[in-house]
Amino acid sequence: MGGKFRTESCDCLVAGGGTTGVIAAIQAGRAGADVILTEMNPLPGGTMTFGKVSSPAYFFAGGRRIVGGIGWELVKETVELSGGKLPDFRVPVPGHTGHAVYVDPNLYPLLAEEKCLRAGVRLRYQEILTALRPLGNGWEAEVTGNGVFRKIRAHEVIDCTGDATAVRLAGGPCVRGEERQPGTLEFQLSGYDCAALDADSLERAFRKALADGELQPGDYCDADRPLIRYLRSRGYNLQHIFPADASDSEKQTGASIAGRQRLLAMLRFLRRQPGLENCVIADAAPLTAVREGWRILGERTVTEDEYLQGVLYEDAIAWSSYFIDVHHETGVRRRHLAPGVFPTIPFGALIPRGMKHILAAGRSISSDRGAFSALRVGASCMAMGQAAGAAAALAVRTGIPSREVPLDSIRELLRAHGAAVPVPGIVTEPEYPEEPV
Ligand SMILES: Cc1cc2nc3c(=O)[nH]c(=O)nc-3n(C[C@H](O)[C@H](O)[C@H](O)COP(=O)(O)OP(=O)(O)OC[C@H]3O[C@@H](n4cnc5c(N)ncnc54)[C@H](O)[C@@H]3O)c2cc1C
Repeated sequence: MGGKFRTESCDCLVAGGGTTGVIAAIQAGRAGADVILTEMNPLPGGTMTFGKVSSPAYFFAGGRRIVGGIGWELVKETVELSGGKLPDFRVPVPGHTGHAVYVDPNLYPLLAEEKCLRAGVRLRYQEILTALRPLGNGWEAEVTGNGVFRKIRAHEVIDCTGDATAVRLAGGPCVRGEERQPGTLEFQLSGYDCAALDADSLERAFRKALADGELQPGDYCDADRPLIRYLRSRGYNLQHIFPADASDSEKQTGASIAGRQRLLAMLRFLRRQPGLENCVIADAAPLTAVREGWRILGERTVTEDEYLQGVLYEDAIAWSSYFIDVHHETGVRRRHLAPGVFPTIPFGALIPRGMKHILAAGRSISSDRGAFSALRVGASCMAMGQAAGAAAALAVRTGIPSREVPLDSIRELLRAHGAAVPVPGIVTEPEYPEEPV
């Protein structure tokens, strides 16, 4: 059995090349670390590409920069190369503190990949991390692909799997609630003209389909609102799948099948309605994207109260600014930040409790459910990824575990790579001036 493994070494192994992992890998690579990035999909981007959740939030909010650095660089270049236009960040969005930025999910992974390659990152697609054991001052990982079995020795591991998989494989402390947010299969419908539809008769047909069981409440998660709103939004981000679990392939398969089956039911219903006979699926993601799963139990756990108060942690390494956004069976629980409140992300929330040479970033951040619902958004994941990449690179450079790297050096490196970094002692002044884009 042992003979089939190829063994290789690197400074830093990034597990999971999604929203967070590509940024972590690029940052570590640009800071001089020899990086391997293992991603089980055939291209990078994770939820942003395979889930088609393509509007990361927030890079600017409340008149100031929240997230900069590599994530912003990548998003900005994607918008430019796809011929898109960035929003005017100085203009407020009703009901929101900031703008999400749409990025083309077909182009984003191409640029992310190019930046990884230029940073010297060794890309290992379609390879799954299956084991992680301590080895000396670091780790030995097992990774399996089609016809490939690797043992990878790394000084530092950054868990960007979205479900704390690396930390769980290493036996680290993780939590997952009984109650979790739903998943969503992202799709876009087309082939109809909303202005030509009879909203009232559609509504009656929709209510009847719900009562008859042909449709289910999660097929339109805002089902207490008129169906015409669903049609105006082309169905995008309006389906809820319960349960949705990405922590193993069997459960992810179940969620993805359920997402497609519910879309089929909706499509069949819609095509029977006057004016919707030509309704078609213009676009659909390959998998049902999952909002919530396993999180690490970190040296620090961000709570909803701390988040809403905008606590400036002494070990803060990034800003965040999304609202509390917990999707559930019957809708969404939202709590907005008061004007002028800017939450921060502490480094301790990326450090699995009691563990060395390993960090977790993105959806696996140590936080309660409320804080998590805000911290999980794309731009915040990118900021965490960059911070983890910087800490890991400095750890390798100085020969100490990432958790012991002085915060000043992490912040200095992050700033040198364009990140927006909180400064303890300065609560109200923005780190960067508002940037008209
Ligand atoms: C339906 C939905 C709508 C959302 N809407 C928005 C929105 O509008 N704006 C916003 O900013 N955020 C939104 N979010 C949140 C945000 O998109 C995600 O929380 C964020 O992208 C998660 O990033 P991540 O890097 O932690 O995880 P992911 O992007 O999921 O990356 C994890 C990666 O790890 C890989 N992986 C997992 N296990 C292994 C393994 N064992 N070996 C190798 N690779 C592995 C996966 O393939 C994946 O690529 C939404 C989320 C969902 C689900």
